[in-house]
Amino acid sequence: MTAAPVKIESVETILVDVPTIRPHRLSVATMNCQTLVLVRVRCADGVVGVGEGTTIGGLAYGEESPESIKVNIDTYFAPLLKGMDATRPGAAMAKLRELFQGNRFAKSALETALFDAQAQRVGVPLSELFGGRVRESVDVAWTLASGDTKRDIDEAERVYEARRHRVFKLKIGSRAVADDVAHVVAISKAVEGYGEVRVDVNQAWTESEAISAGRRFADAGVTLIEQPIAAQNRAGLKRLTELADVPIMADEALHGPADAFAIASARGADVFAVKIAQSGGLSGAAQVAAIASAANIDLYGGTMLEGAVGTIASAQLFSTFGELKWGTELFGPLLLTEEILTEPLRYENFALHLPQGPGLGITLDWDKIDRLRRDTRKGASVAAI
Ligand SMILES: [Mg+2]
Repeated sequence: MTAAPVKIESVETILVDVPTIRPHRLSVATMNCQTLVLVRVRCADGVVGVGEGTTIGGLAYGEESPESIKVNIDTYFAPLLKGMDATRPGAAMAKLRELFQGNRFAKSALETALFDAQAQRVGVPLSELFGGRVRESVDVAWTLASGDTKRDIDEAERVYEARRHRVFKLKIGSRAVADDVAHVVAISKAVEGYGEVRVDVNQAWTESEAISAGRRFADAGVTLIEQPIAAQNRAGLKRLTELADVPIMADEALHGPADAFAIASARGADVFAVKIAQSGGLSGAAQVAAIASAANIDLYGGTMLEGAVGTIASAQLFSTFGELKWGTELFGPLLLTEEILTEPLRYENFALHLPQGPGLGITLDWDKIDRLRRDTRKGASVAAI
């Protein structure tokens, strides 16, 4: 027996600009503000699903921006979805993928909203529509990216003492390699005994820079090197994986299952950073994880620095992975100055704990969001990045 169809009544997109707690300095941009693209899908049975598409540094990280996500959903995706059957999120997404190229972040936001609604409809957490949870919490690393060594060390100490994080990912690549190495070595020394240090170069280095820095990192006890060279240089990433004493993680090189398959079949990385937006949505990310597992590549749950919606959607999916050796970096909401949920996500004992309720398991504070949304704030312009 199949459920009676339920029409999708509307698809709304909302840009929300939220300042960060401190400048977040990456090789591609320095962020002082994060723009969340929230998607709200209303269904004829009264169920409302939400999703999020969020980029890093506007258009600095990838080929979608918050504004492009909004305009493409409003112009192309929403009119098509309107009237479709909300009880068939898989069929709706298949149609969107068939008709519209690219737009992985937009598709991810919509897929999250559709599955949130359907999971609420059947009364289970979203994770249960993706095979079911194997864990109730996911470990969460913190990113140190103030650009200042002393400030990063103080921050590491503070979040460790609060029992929030004990794994620290250092964003490097915007300075001279020697300066970055000195920065990493100093922090590694400072957190010795309580913290683990990893680095993310965000593609900034050449292969030879990565080789020489990698040797220093191995000596300093760094446990993971993330995307040191250009995403397009797959052969180079494979050479580094074979050469390096520290495991190499692919991040920007992974734009969904096809990339995952190409890298996995060449054994071109030790670890995959799985991201729902980069993968084109929850189901694409599940496929990336399955490919990695089949190739004995370890998993790490990545973030696009999403707010609460994208973060908990990611956690719902990551909770279903059989193995999650490197934990996650689902700290996005902690980097933001505004809470958009009626009850914040639960970060305790170095982990993000999954809610038990149906769907995403969160309740949005729509009054607050209405005050923060870009189109109602007078004089608001594109977020400063
Ligand atoms: Mg990364």
